[in-house]
Amino acid sequence: MGRYDVIVIGGGVTGLAVTYDLASRGLKPLLLERNDMMSGTSGKYHGLLHSGARYAVNDPEAAYECAVENKIIKEIAGHCVEDTGGYFVLLDEEEYYDEFKKGCKENKIPIKDVDVDEALKEEPNLNPNIKAVVEVQDAVLYAYKFAVSLGLAAKMNGADMRAYNEVIGLLRKGGRVVGVKVLDKINNRVYEEGAEVIIVTAGPWSEKILNMTGIRNIKMILTAGTMAVVPYRLSKRVINKMRVPSDGDIVVPYGNNSIVGTTAYVIEDPDNYTIPQEDAEFLMEEGSVIFPAIKKIGFSRMYSSVRPLISMGEEIDTRKISRRYEIYDHEELHGVEGLLSAIGGKLTTARAMAEAISDLACKKLGVKKACKTKETKLPNPLEALSAEHLKTKGSPESLVRRVFEKKGTIDEELLINALYILIASSLW
Ligand SMILES: Cc1cc2nc3c(=O)[nH]c(=O)nc-3n(C[C@H](O)[C@H](O)[C@H](O)COP(=O)(O)OP(=O)(O)OC[C@H]3O[C@@H](n4cnc5c(N)ncnc54)[C@H](O)[C@@H]3O)c2cc1C
Repeated sequence: MGRYDVIVIGGGVTGLAVTYDLASRGLKPLLLERNDMMSGTSGKYHGLLHSGARYAVNDPEAAYECAVENKIIKEIAGHCVEDTGGYFVLLDEEEYYDEFKKGCKENKIPIKDVDVDEALKEEPNLNPNIKAVVEVQDAVLYAYKFAVSLGLAAKMNGADMRAYNEVIGLLRKGGRVVGVKVLDKINNRVYEEGAEVIIVTAGPWSEKILNMTGIRNIKMILTAGTMAVVPYRLSKRVINKMRVPSDGDIVVPYGNNSIVGTTAYVIEDPDNYTIPQEDAEFLMEEGSVIFPAIKKIGFSRMYSSVRPLISMGEEIDTRKISRRYEIYDHEELHGVEGLLSAIGGKLTTARAMAEAISDLACKKLGVKKACKTKETKLPNPLEALSAEHLKTKGSPESLVRRVFEKKGTIDEELLINALYILIASSLW
């Protein structure tokens, strides 16, 4: 026991970002994930690096957080981002137009008016009945590339990460959490691991883990959201409906596909729920208001994941719950020393969330090391692997080089995706 300064529970994007942040400050973290890394919400999200514009009117703090992180992520993780830009298109709710622009201005979210004819030239599949268009700095963030880059950066800084290692208990000494009890699903054994600080980044499962210490009064509202995949890229940009945020508002161009989303319905158990049958019809109706062609093309698949939102009082309108993140110190809140948790937020703000909770962990550990992740570029896993491979005697150098340079055939491009799996398997 005690080989690690910090144990991080949950290998979604938040856990990976926290592990990297801590390791880059010279600490020794261990990340434990019960299944594959990114198998929770992070691996099944909508794909949008938010500009903040979506939240500008109703959730200004979340809007501002997104606007700040949008710039940082484009800078430090350019290889994971497709900087598409985005359009907010006005279809009805004309009274929202002025409110939307005012909210963006107040939260320092850059916007630009675009002439409707110009927008239709740029995006010919858009509904021709749009009444106004505002350009924003939305982009696409490829989640798995981001995760593998965070994992590689964490590993290069000395972190340990274990997939298929489920935390099944928290070890306590008096009022302090001193370690975890872990089920190693690969070797089918149970073991214990100790650390000075334990950080819970288990997304929708956080409440279950906190319950292991007897903490009961953190209330999370779990809302699942469905996304539908159109097997065709309908636009260059991310397209949002300009209206009070609601369901079925956004279409994200993700590779050669377009993802229509989302919905929101309260669930009890993130391991046991089903996509409501009516979601396909609903997303078809709402999506085809933006791109009429969706009705002809149809969906190739649907998927869903769960938002771990923090309840604000009694409010249960799921679209009105803040998209901000919260950092909890359970010593202050519940008298449990050595236990912190980071809950809520967006994939867009995972780095900021990691910075905030790592600052707190450092304070607890008496370590004075500033965060470096804001200005340090993440390593590009393919470049790292390329450098390794090209050194290897007998590697098919020209193929490897073509693949890494993204030239050549679709098959070679598919190989790139497989390479991410190969790199990931060497990390955890
Ligand atoms: C439908 C939907 C669409 C979204 N779209 C966007 C978007 O376009 N842009 C954006 O910025 N954000 C978006 N989000 C929000 C974003 O996806 C989440 O904020 C983010 O992925 C949360 O990451 P996380 O690491 O905190 O949680 P998760 O990714 O859920 O990770 C938690 C991990 O903990 C693990 N775990 C659980 N229990 C244990 C245990 N006992 N031991 C070890 N590990 C455990 C789980 O297996 C899981 O991998 C969306 C969310 C939803 C639901």
